[in-house]
Amino acid sequence: MTVKSTSAEIRQMFLNYFAEHGHTIVPSASLVPQDDPTLLFTNAGMNQFKDVFLGTGTRPYSRAADTQKCMRVSGKHNDLEEVGFDGTHHTFFEMLGNWSFGDYYKKEAIGWAWDLLTKVYGLDKNRLWATIFEDDQGVLPRDDEAANYWRTETDIAPDHILPFGRKDNFWMMADTGPCGPNSEINYDRGPEACDKQGVPGHVCRVNGDCARFTEIWNLVFIQYNSLGGGQLEPLPARHVDTGMGFERIVAILQGVTANYDTDLFRPIIAKTQELAGQSDAEREAHLTAYRVIADHIRALTFLIGDGVKPANKGQGYVPRMVLRRAVRFGRKLGFTAPFMADLVDTVVAIMGATFPELPARVEFIKATINSEEKRFLRTLDQGLARLEEIISYLQEQGKTAIPGAEAFFLHDTLGLPPEVTRDVAKEYGFIVDEKGYALIRESRGGLRDETEETEVDPHNLLYPVLYDWVQCQECHPLRHDPYSGFSVKTHVTGMIRGDGLDTKAFTDDAVELVLQETCFYVASGGQVADTGRIVGPDWEVQVEDVRRPIEGLIVHIGKVVRGMPAVGDPATVEVDAERRRSIMRNHTATHLLHHALREVLGSHVAQAGSLVTPERLRFDFNHDEPLTPAQRSEIERLVTGAILANYPVQTRQEAYRDALSQGVIAIFEEKYGDVVRVVRVGDETTTFSQELCGGTHVSRSGDIGAFTILNETGVGAGARRIEATTGYGALQALQTARARQEQAAAQLAAPVEELPERIGRLQAELRAAHKEIEQLTRKLARADFQSLLDNVVYVADIPVLAAQVDAPDADTLREMTDWFRDKMQGGVIVLGAVIDDKPLLIAATTKALTQRGIHAGNLVRDLARLVGGGGGGRPDMAQAGGRDASKLPEALGKVTEMIKGMVKG
Ligand code: ATP
Ligand code: MG
Repeated sequence: MTVKSTSAEIRQMFLNYFAEHGHTIVPSASLVPQDDPTLLFTNAGMNQFKDVFLGTGTRPYSRAADTQKCMRVSGKHNDLEEVGFDGTHHTFFEMLGNWSFGDYYKKEAIGWAWDLLTKVYGLDKNRLWATIFEDDQGVLPRDDEAANYWRTETDIAPDHILPFGRKDNFWMMADTGPCGPNSEINYDRGPEACDKQGVPGHVCRVNGDCARFTEIWNLVFIQYNSLGGGQLEPLPARHVDTGMGFERIVAILQGVTANYDTDLFRPIIAKTQELAGQSDAEREAHLTAYRVIADHIRALTFLIGDGVKPANKGQGYVPRMVLRRAVRFGRKLGFTAPFMADLVDTVVAIMGATFPELPARVEFIKATINSEEKRFLRTLDQGLARLEEIISYLQEQGKTAIPGAEAFFLHDTLGLPPEVTRDVAKEYGFIVDEKGYALIRESRGGLRDETEETEVDPHNLLYPVLYDWVQCQECHPLRHDPYSGFSVKTHVTGMIRGDGLDTKAFTDDAVELVLQETCFYVASGGQVADTGRIVGPDWEVQVEDVRRPIEGLIVHIGKVVRGMPAVGDPATVEVDAERRRSIMRNHTATHLLHHALREVLGSHVAQAGSLVTPERLRFDFNHDEPLTPAQRSEIERLVTGAILANYPVQTRQEAYRDALSQGVIAIFEEKYGDVVRVVRVGDETTTFSQELCGGTHVSRSGDIGAFTILNETGVGAGARRIEATTGYGALQALQTARARQEQAAAQLAAPVEELPERIGRLQAELRAAHKEIEQLTRKLARADFQSLLDNVVYVADIPVLAAQVDAPDADTLREMTDWFRDKMQGGVIVLGAVIDDKPLLIAATTKALTQRGIHAGNLVRDLARLVGGGGGGRPDMAQAGGRDASKLPEALGKVTEMIKGMVKG
C-alpha cells in the first residue's frame, strides 16, 4: 500500500465487504446494555444479539454486520490496567463484527475473514496466525472442524494453525450467557516489535506476553448457553459471532505499532500536548500519561454521550473514576485547571460521522465533563483541610517533618499536588520528608478500581484507595500465610476508621486494619474467617472478621478495645487458636466425610456446598433419598477409621491438569488457577482422601479426635445435607444426648438400658387406659341420658324427646337416639349439641311412625333453618348442621309443635 487508508475507509471496507456477502448493516447498540443485569457495559458486538442466540428473540435478517461501541472496565472483560501501558488495549474501543443467526457457519466465517484480511486489506499471509480450540480440561471436543476449514478455505501456512485451551479459545460474554469455542486470528509484527527482548526466558509467541503478536479478530462459534458454575447447555441453533478490534486493524494497516499512533488517537494526543504546552521530547517522556488521557477522554465522551452521568456508584462510577484517573495523569503534564472538556471537540471530529449521537450531544458532554472535573478539583480543598489537620497533630508531637507516606497519600488519594503540600508545609515551618516521599512514589503500583459490582457500596470504593496507599508505603507485597502458625509479629500499614481512611484510631472506634503480614484465614471454600486480636505497644484491637475486598488487600475488621493504634505501629497478630483448631478439625473431617459418602452412597456424590465453622460442619451433596440409619452408621465408621489410622495430612502445589488426572476431587463451583493446592489425607500406602482446597487442616487425621453426624436432612430436590461435628463438638453432642437419656431415665425411675422396653410398656399401658376411658365416658353418657328421659312428652300417644346434650361428636348423638328408641320402643327423638362451636341436630323415629306422617328429614330441615343452616335425610333418621349455636334451645323448643303438625290419625 502506498497511500495508507484512513480509519474511516478501513471501517467502511469492512462493512461493505459483509454487505456484499448478504449482511444487513445495523447501527451500534448503546454502551448501556438494555435489560441485561449480567453486564455493566456493552463489552462485545454480540451483546445486542444475545436474545437471538438464546432463541428467545428474532431479527428480520439472518446475517448482520456492524461496528459496536465497547467498554471493558469491569466484570469478565476488564482491561483498565493495560490501558496506556500497552498499545493494544483500551477502555473504550470499536469492535467490527459479522454475525450469522443459524445461517452460515465455520466454513464461511473463516473463508470470508481470510479473504477480507488478505485480499481486501492486503495483509501479508505469512504474518497471520490462526488458533483453534482444544479443551485443556478434556471435557469439550477439539474443534477439528475449524482447523479443517483453515486448511481448505484459506491458504494459511499449515503450521500457522495452533490449538489453545479455554482461556484463549473459549469465548464467554459473562459468567452466564451465550458462549462457544472460537478461532482467533493473530498478526505478527515481526521480531523488532518485541518489547521483551533480552528478558531471560522470553519467547515471542501467539498468545504470549510481548507486543510482537497481536490478536486482531476473534471468530466465535456460539453453541452453548453458560448457566454459571461451569455448566453449559446446548443452544437450539448454532451461530457465528465475530469481533475484530478496529483500532488494532487500523494500526496494522497504517503501519504503526501502537493504536495510539493511528489517526484515531493522534489528533487527541496533539491537542493535549498543545493544551499542556509541552515539547515533543516532553511528550515522549510522558507517553503513558498522554495515552491514558487519550483513551479516557474517548471513553468519557462516549459514556456521557450514551447518557451515563458521573456518580458514586453503579455505571456512573466508571466515568467518575476514568475522569479522576485522567486528571491525575494530567497533573504529570502540568495541568492544574480543568482541561478534559477541551479535548471533546477533537474526539467528536474524529468519530462524529460514524456515531451521530456525539455531535448531537457535544455541548452536554463538555458541560458534564467540565463540572465533574471542577468538582474533583474541589476535593483538593479537602486535601488542604486534611493537610492542616496533619500539621497540627504533628505540632502537638513536637515534629517538623511531614512523613513521605502522608504527603503521598495527600497527593495520590486526595489529589493534592505535592508542590502545594510543600508550600503549605513551609508556611508552618515544616518540611516534607522528600526521601520517603520519593521512595513511595517510585514503588507505586497501577491504579486499581473495583467496578465488578453493578451496585458499588461507597464504602467499597475505599478499598482500591487503601490498596494504593498500602502499596506505596510498602515496597513488598502483603504476606499472607494462614497455614504456618497462629501468631506473627508485623506492623500496621493501613487503616480505615469508620467510613474513611485514617492513620490513627481511638478506643471504641470501629476499624479495619491492614498489616504487612497476617496469619488470619479469610473466609473461602466454605471455611469461615478467623477471629482474634491484634496487639500493639499500648493498644489492642479485637478482630471479628477478616476480608479480602480486592486481590492483594486483607482487612482485619474489628474494634479498638484499648489504646490508640496508628499506621506504622508494630503489632502482633493473634488468631483465636482454640477456635481455629476446631475449624481445622471440622475442615479435615469434611474431606473425610466427602470421601466416605462416595464410598457408601456411590461416586455420583458431589459436593454442592459446604460450611466449616468452629461448632460444626455442614455438607450439601446430591443424592436422591434420605440416608438409612445403616448408611449413616457406616459413614461414621469409615470416618472414624480414618481418624484412628492417624494419617498424615499433607498439602502440595500442583498443576491443575496433573491434579485432575490423578483423580483429585475438584469442586465444580470453585474457580481454580493453573496451580492448585492439593490436600491429601493418607500414608505411603493408602490415600484416604485427596481434594483441591485452600483451607486450613489438622496435621494428622487423629487430631480430629472424634466425629459424629448430628443430622441428615433434605435440601431441595435431589440434594441432602449432613451436619456433623468433631473434637469437643462431638464430645458435647455425646454429652447432650447422654444428659437427655439420663433425664428420661430419671423421669421413668428406670436404668438407661431399660428405657426402650419401659417406653414400650408405658405406651401399652397408655393404650389400655385410653380404651378404658372411652368405655367409662359412654357409661357416664348413658347414665346422663337416663335422666333426660324425664323430659319425654307425649304428642297424642307418641313419646317425644327434644333436648340439648353434651356430646363430643355426631356418632355419640346417633348412638343416643338408638338408646332412646330401645328404651321407648318407638317415639321421636330430636337431639341438639354444640360441636366445635357449631350447632348440630339429629332427629330419629321408627318406621311405624313415619307411616303416621312423621318425617325426620323434614323436621331437621325446618329446625336447621332456625340455627342458620340446612340439611335433611331419611324419614326415620336425619341430621343437619347450622351456624348459630345460640339459637339451638329456641329451635328445640319448637319440636313438639312441629310434630303436632305432622301427626295424622
Ligand atoms: P485480548 O486477548 O487481546 O485481550 P480478547 O481475547 O479479550 O483480546 P475478544 O474478547 O475476543 O478479545 O474481542 C474481540 C476483539 O476485540 C479482539 O480480537 C481484539 O482485536 C479486540 N479487543 C479486545 N479487547 C480490546 C481492548 N481492550 N481494546 C481494543 N481492542 C480490543
Ligand atoms: Mg481481553
